[in-house]
Parts: sequence; C-alpha cells; structure tokens
Amino acid sequence: MTELIRHWVAGKFDDTIPQRTGEVFDPATGAVTKQVAFAAESDVDAAVAKAAEALKEWRRASLAKRSNVLFAFRELLNERKSELAEIITAEHGKVLSDAAGEVQRGLENVEYVCGIPNLLRGGFSENASTSVDVHSVRQPVGVVGVISPFNFPAMVPLWFVPNAIACGNAVVLKPSEKDPSAANFIAQLWQEAGLPDGVLNVVHGDKVAVDALLANPTVKAVSFVGSTPVARYVYETGTGNGKRVQALGGAKNHMVVLPDADLDLAADAAVSAGFGSAGERCMAISAVVAVDPVGDELVAKIAERMAKLNVGDGRRGCDMGPLVTAAHRDRVSSYVDAGVAAGAELVMDGRGIEVDGADDGFWLGPTLFDRVGTDMSIYTDEIFGPVLSVLRVPSYDAALEVLNANPYGNGTAIFTQSGGAARQYCEEVEVGMVGVNVPIPVPVSYYSFGGWKDSLFGDAHAYGPDGIQFYTRTKVVTTRWPDPSHGGVDLGFPQST
Ligand code: NAD
Repeated sequence: MTELIRHWVAGKFDDTIPQRTGEVFDPATGAVTKQVAFAAESDVDAAVAKAAEALKEWRRASLAKRSNVLFAFRELLNERKSELAEIITAEHGKVLSDAAGEVQRGLENVEYVCGIPNLLRGGFSENASTSVDVHSVRQPVGVVGVISPFNFPAMVPLWFVPNAIACGNAVVLKPSEKDPSAANFIAQLWQEAGLPDGVLNVVHGDKVAVDALLANPTVKAVSFVGSTPVARYVYETGTGNGKRVQALGGAKNHMVVLPDADLDLAADAAVSAGFGSAGERCMAISAVVAVDPVGDELVAKIAERMAKLNVGDGRRGCDMGPLVTAAHRDRVSSYVDAGVAAGAELVMDGRGIEVDGADDGFWLGPTLFDRVGTDMSIYTDEIFGPVLSVLRVPSYDAALEVLNANPYGNGTAIFTQSGGAARQYCEEVEVGMVGVNVPIPVPVSYYSFGGWKDSLFGDAHAYGPDGIQFYTRTKVVTTRWPDPSHGGVDLGFPQST
C-alpha cells in the first residue's frame, strides 16, 4: 500500500478515509509513490470552520507574539531546507539545486514579514481638527484561501501564507494535487514554530476543493496561482461571491535581444531561463525575439549550449529533470509536432532524447525552434515545457509590437548594452516584471510579484507591500476626548476647525 497524503486540519492529520484520491508520481521513474486525499466540499467547510475558530484568538495575538512565531518558523525552514528540497524533487522532478533555490526564495518572504510590527504601522494625525485626533489601523481580512500550482510547491505557498498569517489571518491552503507533500511539511514546521493549531490548514484535492473555497462565505480573500483559464474562473467566481481575489495566471515571457547585446551573455541567459526547471516556470523565457541581424549567430550560440545540457534524474546532479506527469510531457511533445507541421525550423529536437535516468520517467529534452511565426500554436499558447522559440524581427519597434500584442504580460527581459534603449523598453513594454540583461526578473521579497493583462486578475500583486495590503483592511478612527472647553449642540456637517 502506498502512503496516503492527508489533509492537515487544526494541527493534526485528518484520519478519515477519503471518498476520492489521486496518484502522486516520481516523475524521474514514472512510479506511483503516494496517493493523495481529494477533499469533498464538506472537508473544505470543516477546515474553514476550524480556521474561523482559530482566527478569533490569532487576530488579537500581539505583534510581538506573531513575530516570535515568524522568526521561529524562519529558523526551522532554514534548518530543514534540504529535506524540503528533496520532497519537492521527488514529486515535481526539478533538479535538487533548483528545488533548494525555490525554498530560498520562499524563505526571503518569511524574512520580509518578520518585520510585521513595522509593516502594519498605521498613521496618526494629532489635532486634525481642534482637539480631534485621527489614526488608521490595518486589521486582518479573516479566513484566507490559498490555491497553488504544481510548479512551485513550496515557494508559491510561501509567497502568501507567511504574509496572511503575519497580518493576523487564518489560512486554508489547497496545494496542487500533483506534488502535495511540500505543503504538509511546511504546515508541520509552522506548528513546531508555535503557530496555534487551526491558523494554517491544508486541504488537498482538485476543482471540487477549489470550488468549495470559492463558495464558502467565511472565506473572505483568495490568493490563486495557476493557468490563465483557471485564474480567470477563480477571479470571476470569487469576486462574484463577494471575496477579495488576486489570481495570478499563465505567461509567455519574451527575451528581446538587440543588435548591440553581448550575445554570449544573451545565449547563456536564454538557455538558463528557457530550460531551468524543464521550462515549467511562470517566469521561464519561452520566446526569444532576435532583432536583425543577430538571429543566425544567436541561434548558433543557443544551440551550442543546449547540446551540453545533461538531462536526467534531478537527484543525480543533472542540469534538467523530467516533466511533472506523463500527460503533461505528451502535451508538450505534441506542441513540438505542431511546430514542425506549422513550418517552424526545428534546430534541436528533444523528443526521444537519451537521459541519465529510468526509462519510464517523463522525459522530454530541450527543444529549439527558429523562424517561429506569431500565428503558430508554439508561439500563441503557453507550452510550459522545455521548448524555446526564436522569432526574428527587423527592428526594436517590431519587437515591441510583438510583445505588446501578446495577451500575456508576466515577465520579459531585454538584452542590450544601451542604457537608453533599455530605459525606453522599460517604459514602453506592457509587462509587469522587466529584466535588463536579467532573464528571470522575479522581484525580491520587499517588492511585489505580478504580471499584467492575462497574467494577473485583480489589483494586488503577490507578497511584499501588496501582500500586506491584500490581507488587511484599513480602518480610520476619529477621536475626541471631552475636555473642559467642550460644549454645545451643532447640527452642521463636521468640518475641521
Ligand atoms: P492549474 O491551473 O492546472 O492548477 C492550479 C491550481 O488550480 C491547482 O491547485 C489545481 O488543483 C487547481 N485547478 C486546476 N483546474 C481547476 C479548475 N478547472 N477549477 C478550479 N481549480 C482548478 O496550473 P498548474 O498546471 O498547476 O500550474 C502551471 C500554471 O501556473 C502555468 O500556467 C503557469 O504559468 C502558472 N503559474 C503562474 C505563476 C504566476 O505567478 N503568474 C506562477 C506559477 C505558475
């Protein structure tokens, strides 16, 4: 019997037998390693009720108490980060060093909210009117639902959960059913750090669990990350039910290479950002826009680097691991077929690649297309795999036109030696996160992460200052204490005097 991954509710694992379960794979071997419980609506409602109960105390917990828990959690996460990285690799497939990198980026978000007493400070105006003072406070929104994707099973929960908890909320986390173990590991660390039971709960499952979170009136805010169609659905359903929602969606990230760029730097960046995590990153570069005349030389340099990549089991020190499931590998592979059929030039073919790993792993090697057209499905669709497309354009203006016509707007990078050109690009491009000679411009924890257009639905970006704002409601209090000069009825509209 394989192990069953269970819901974590009010500080313990739910020991009931689930009506539905899903399979969890080791993508490098293709073996089913675990089963995961799929929550019914009643399971989600029970977890939300426990969160609501815990919220009563936690929202009133002093800032000193909250920051003690956050500091303790930071220490535990740091101590046990290699264990967590191993859990990620075993279910996601990304190589161990990459898994360690995602935990590190998650840790930085915890460190940011260790300063919660400062982040939650309000304002105070003495004598806004004569003997009348005004102050503002930020209070928690209540029970928060967090729904995360498979590609960052630790980092994305750590974008939201620490912020929400630090602001005094209680959380129900629904991680991806494809790699659910990291969430349970993290939840247990929170308990060890002293977080009261019920402040963080984990329910596992699929659309049924997501729909239950969106329908439950006790859930006041939802943070979602996943593909664009689901993000749009979650945003529309959640806001339709009166909730505050931030829903981060899919991406098509372009890297523009201008004629004056350092082409070795650009080729290194394109390969690192295109094939890291087998292209299963929302900030992966999937389209290189080569401005004439750099195309031939750039494609040759990219192909030369790709030929040296070692694909295999992420635990063996390889450069690139497998895809997350067989179904996803087949879907990505079908895009390679479609690219060939549409007439793009296949420079490197990852189908049928030899790997350093088991035969039944979900493999697909790095693939490079040149002379890709903007009407081809390998360009229009988010493939989310190790497939890099090169588009050739005659000028900077043509490159910008391609970028701004694309419905996604998550991340982009420009490679150039010209400060003026880079500055112009940063100003003109309709994308939320921009790198200048930096291929994956994920903002540090004290800024906020988020795309534009179909890459984000809602007003608030993730973590950083936007996270604090999203998980709190402001209240403004106007105060007058009676003093000896007070007196008299006045029916006029209150004005400052
Ligand atoms: P996904 O949309 O399939 O799943 C995301 C979450 O939604 C999971 O928890 C899943 O169980 C749930 N879900 C799936 N289908 C659903 C449905 N029909 N109704 C309700 N809930 C549903 O995404 P994924 O494959 O897990 O992750 C990859 C996607 O996430 C890519 O599109 C990637 O670009 C995107 N992503 C975006 C960001 C970002 O910051 N913008 C970050 C990471 C990943």
